[in-house]
Amino acid sequence: MKKETICVQSGYQSKNGEPRVLPIYQSTTYSYDSSEELAKLFDLTKDGHMYSRISNPTVSCVEKKVAELEKGVGAMMTSSGQAASLISILNITGSGDNFICFSNLYGGTTNLFAVTLRKLGIEARFVSYEMSDEEIEALIDERTTLLFGETISNPSLEVLDIERYAKLAHAHGIPLIVDNTFATPILCRPFEWGADIVVHSTSKYMDGHAEVVGGMIVDSGKFDWSGYSCLSEPDDSYHGVIYTKQFGNSAYITKARVQLMRDLGSTPSPFSAFLLNNGLETLHLRMERHSQNALSVAKHLKAHEKVSWVNYPGLPDDRYHDLAMKYLDGGLSSGVVSFGTVNGKKGATVFMDSLKLAKICVHVADLRTCVLHPASTTHRQLTDEQLVSAGVRPEFIRFSTGIENIDDIIADIDQALEKI
Ligand SMILES: *Cc1c(COP(=O)(O)O)cnc(C)c1O
Repeated sequence: MKKETICVQSGYQSKNGEPRVLPIYQSTTYSYDSSEELAKLFDLTKDGHMYSRISNPTVSCVEKKVAELEKGVGAMMTSSGQAASLISILNITGSGDNFICFSNLYGGTTNLFAVTLRKLGIEARFVSYEMSDEEIEALIDERTTLLFGETISNPSLEVLDIERYAKLAHAHGIPLIVDNTFATPILCRPFEWGADIVVHSTSKYMDGHAEVVGGMIVDSGKFDWSGYSCLSEPDDSYHGVIYTKQFGNSAYITKARVQLMRDLGSTPSPFSAFLLNNGLETLHLRMERHSQNALSVAKHLKAHEKVSWVNYPGLPDDRYHDLAMKYLDGGLSSGVVSFGTVNGKKGATVFMDSLKLAKICVHVADLRTCVLHPASTTHRQLTDEQLVSAGVRPEFIRFSTGIENIDDIIADIDQALEKI
């Protein structure tokens, strides 16, 4: 099936006389006729649900849909995007190990990697797109487990050269993990370019309605894990199972569920999965409109005298336009635009406070237009100089373009820019 059809039809299929819409199975547990059958579930020799911390039929349907959209062999939903990133790393990384990641990652991810994982004895080694392959390779050693990047970085909007970094990672026997949150599988499918694992914050475009926090890990099934003892040698915490032997190309995603989800319990609720499924049913329509509206906004801002600079990969003269044309379907570059107003922080504040339709929100990437001014909110403790070194200029505005009529969005921008 094509991606539009997968969005609408995949996951749950109703049989004769059954509900047409994905049911919410609000049950912690599942009953069986014999203890032998349940024992088989515990031995992982039979498929089925036993306890909703580990799996649930409503959640499974949504996981199946996302796995199909990304063209992977399996997916696991988590209670948040943060939990997805965490589990994607912990699944193959332990104390004393290190991994490579890009410094333009979402702030929450950066903090998780640099601060919290460090406390667990895991070292994140930060690199940038400006570095040569040799400079990055110099940081890879025997204890390096993976390379991690974002398809379109939040909020700097830099496009990851997936093919280049997948080759680099594979040359050293490590997988490339891609956070595909801003692009979604509608605009980019990282597995087609060599990525091995995809993670999502489904709280953004996938849900799309700003209703439910969630995350997803998807396994391409293509990486050879024979060099990873945690997957290719007996797991003591699961009576000696060897994941690569018993589960073949689903070894990674199976271990993530039966070991880490079992132990960490960052489980989504069936109702959250139901809401996410509603969002996914229209994802293809929304991503197209978000991208069209954002391109119009970016072009309009670019020509405006009260605007000093605009970043949007969909603009032909953007630094990342060539990569956007390669990796994002038809150059459709998602809904977020970043720009700076004239008059620095003061200009940005006047603009923000004058908006009427666009609301000031910490959230990003849902169907209602919203804005954030990092310098006066998430980064407000920093001085102007510190803001610049953090890559957040004082006049930096993150504009999350919604799917309202474009004329109304631009009219709101224009009246607010006039106030500067
Ligand atoms: C929001 C976000 C996350 C974190 O996801 P939550 O669902 O908020 O936990 C991770 N990566 C990116 C790119 C994000 O935008």
